[in-house]
Amino acid sequence: MPDISIITIGDELLIGQVIDTNSAWMAQELNKEGFNVIRRVAIADEKQSILTALSEEEKHAAIILITGGLGPTSDDITKPTLCQYFNGRMKLNEEALENVKYLFEKVFKKPVTPINLKQAEVPDCCRVLQNKRGTAPGMLFEKNNAVFISLPGVPYEMQGLMLAEVIPFLKEKFTAAQIIHKTLLTVGIGESALAEKIKDFESALPESIKLAYLPSYGMVRLRLTTKAEFHEKIRQDMDFAFEELKKLTAEYLVTSNDLQMQEVVAEILTLQNKTLATAESCTGGYIAHLLTSIPGSSKFFNGSVVSYTNQAKEKLLQVQSSTIQQFGAVSENTVKEMLPGALKQLDSNYAIAVSGIMGPDGGTDEKPVGTVWVAVGNSQKIITQKFHFRFNRLQNIHLTALNALNLLRKFLLENN
Ligand code: ATP
Ligand code: MG
Repeated sequence: MPDISIITIGDELLIGQVIDTNSAWMAQELNKEGFNVIRRVAIADEKQSILTALSEEEKHAAIILITGGLGPTSDDITKPTLCQYFNGRMKLNEEALENVKYLFEKVFKKPVTPINLKQAEVPDCCRVLQNKRGTAPGMLFEKNNAVFISLPGVPYEMQGLMLAEVIPFLKEKFTAAQIIHKTLLTVGIGESALAEKIKDFESALPESIKLAYLPSYGMVRLRLTTKAEFHEKIRQDMDFAFEELKKLTAEYLVTSNDLQMQEVVAEILTLQNKTLATAESCTGGYIAHLLTSIPGSSKFFNGSVVSYTNQAKEKLLQVQSSTIQQFGAVSENTVKEMLPGALKQLDSNYAIAVSGIMGPDGGTDEKPVGTVWVAVGNSQKIITQKFHFRFNRLQNIHLTALNALNLLRKFLLENN
């Protein structure tokens, strides 16, 4: 399989004003199809930098993908530079012109500007990739045995062109080796403890299967990868190894599909045809945000009460003022009263209630920063758990949400 290099063009990327999400997205999509990205380079919107990068990357990879520098304002640099590099001449492309006119007349409903019309001019030595999502066309050049493809920097436009044009082209030109990934998600065990637990498994893995640890706050993803060229034996080895890995991690296993925690909870609720409400103090609605980021979440998620102050907990969730006085807002008793409040206010089957100290201030000896109480349950039964997180405020909020959802997940599976 030919190697791929990605060049990202843009001053904003170099000064860190915009984070280069394009290369990460492209690499993931290409990887799924069996293509390997071996280098990534970020350069300025500047002629000499572009020429240097093109000739340098050509030495390392047979496929060079370029994003950025094609918007109407920096157009004057990237396109003519590509034209020069491939010894072409600028020429109007009729189809691209129609596209620009169409977008301005029908979509933006504005008169088309000369600067945008100029976007329909492309080097005569390239194949034009029509951009249905914007005015800058993609361009494909072939030189010796290498392929160069220039795409706009706007992520939504780049993605459209990658899926509709670039990947199908590459797949046809270079038959990709099939890569199989199998991923599972664990929560509640650290990377090193997990490594200890599965070290015999890891060392017994066949040469053709690679294990990767993908840790992030509060969870570790384990991924098995193999490059099978449709070998039945490799496929079987892979299935066998994955089943084995699931057994070894059963205690911490959240899902053996490549899903996020909130998606797993959503799946269970949908399957059980039940609804959820959240009563959120320290997470300020973050759990609700995670859930409502899933399309169709109104089927299982009724809403959230962001009861941040004591008064809000009393007024909106009917927590007894005496409970807060006696035990504090961050206590088992308080979350245990917040939960039925949420069930009732939002007329739901299940609820999650959280209250904690996220930091950096507000901790005491008895309740240090990172102390969190979580309650999950329904009208019959409530379970609670106390957590201690030790990161910064935003990470503590994220960890609270993750663990609260995990506690609910277990409750749903055990009490159905
Ligand atoms: P304009 O003419 O509007 O200034 P431009 O000439 O900079 O645009 P592009 O370089 O294609 O055009 O980028 C358009 C937008 O896409 C910019 O907002 C840019 O910040 C963003 N962008 C560019 N490259 C990337 C990247 N690698 N990852 C994420 N966003 C990017
Ligand atoms: Mg740019």
